[in-house]
Amino acid sequence: MQNISKSQNYFNKAKDLIPGGVNSPVRAFNSVGGVPRFIQKASGPYLYDVDGNRYVDTICSWGPAIVGHANEEVISAVKNSLSNGLSFGAPTEGETILSEMIKEHVSSVEQVRLTSSGTEATMSAIRLARGVTNKDKIVKFEGCYHGHVDSLLVKAGSGLLTLGNPTSGGVPKPFAAETIVLPYNDPQALIECFEAFPDEIAAVIIEPIAGNMNLVKPNKEFLKLLRNTCDKFGSLLIFDEVMTGFRVSLGGAQQILDIIPDLSTFGKVIGGGMPMGAFAGKKEIMKHLAPLGPVYQAGTLSGNPIAVAAGIATLNIVSQPNFFRSLELLTNELIVGLRDIARNCEVKDFSSDCVGGMFGLYFRPEIPKTFNDVLDSNIDLFKQFFHEMLTRGVYLAPSPYEAGFLSIKHEGKPVQEILEAAKESFNAINERKE
Ligand SMILES: *Cc1c(COP(=O)(O)O)cnc(C)c1O
Repeated sequence: MQNISKSQNYFNKAKDLIPGGVNSPVRAFNSVGGVPRFIQKASGPYLYDVDGNRYVDTICSWGPAIVGHANEEVISAVKNSLSNGLSFGAPTEGETILSEMIKEHVSSVEQVRLTSSGTEATMSAIRLARGVTNKDKIVKFEGCYHGHVDSLLVKAGSGLLTLGNPTSGGVPKPFAAETIVLPYNDPQALIECFEAFPDEIAAVIIEPIAGNMNLVKPNKEFLKLLRNTCDKFGSLLIFDEVMTGFRVSLGGAQQILDIIPDLSTFGKVIGGGMPMGAFAGKKEIMKHLAPLGPVYQAGTLSGNPIAVAAGIATLNIVSQPNFFRSLELLTNELIVGLRDIARNCEVKDFSSDCVGGMFGLYFRPEIPKTFNDVLDSNIDLFKQFFHEMLTRGVYLAPSPYEAGFLSIKHEGKPVQEILEAAKESFNAINERKE
């Protein structure tokens, strides 16, 4: 048996001092039960808990650790930056370098504003869209998550599903009333919505490849229709690439799908593990932001030099030739391997999919296309699999509604360790059933 006594003690103490013992809900293991592991350190593809257990990490800090934990180049860039001081409240050259890197790789981007989180980025992008269009309504899609922004916590995705709570308390009804929630991948609902509110929609915000209701790929025709409809009605199209940016490909989901949004938001990978976000788009739109224009947006620690250093070092690595090709092959090896193992173990409620370094494991026979498909999963099987894997040293996302993430350091042995653990786990579940 795995010894988790220190994690148990730390969690008990944390629960007294921190609501639920955690600073972001999914970490509490509410949807799988059991004791969240308190992490001491991480290296490459591995996490080490306070009791000395080692895990192959398939979350990668929910995406950022794409070059592996404590990557030498990233740590060294951060150390160099540290010795110059932590924050100046004045511009630094690094902010321009990072913005230039984002612009170089993401074709829709001309200007960038850095923030300290993905939530700030989506919140600011929406304010900007409203300011530019002089319209108030926002359209979002069921199962998409855009951070804990009041007006976007309307039937939001994973975190809330995990809590079994479709909307958040504390969001005034009039705020939510300005947000229209439509089903993902549903052209008819989209057309009807724009016909009902032709002059009122400031922007449509979407995860162009959804990763917060587990991984759900978009229908390309649907996204094309979305692009055309926004143009026709004078609404801005915002691609929330906080998760997919520099994760599914160097140019993000927009590159894979070949669709140009008006605004894009970023986070996760661009901070390399430090607090970071960004929103970006054409100069014509971005010039409405303060200090140039009337749309106010700011941040004491925005463009923080340490976070910027980590981001630059990370983007330097991911932009090397073949980085994404290798990562994609690796991720594909994992999901095909898992699919084969499930089939050999005669587990029917299992399917898997991936894009770039992001994957979905689904406890249902087929890959989901909609939010309702995702909800229709064998949750009991997922919970059993999660705990069997955890005790065998594989750390999966503690919720059936989250995507998984690999790093380039998972190549070789770590992926084999996951597959080996999966074989044993499915067998253990089958034996229990018999
Ligand atoms: C993680 C995420 C956010 C929120 O970013 P934070 O840094 O957690 O505030 C927003 N949108 C998407 C698509 C995300 O995956």
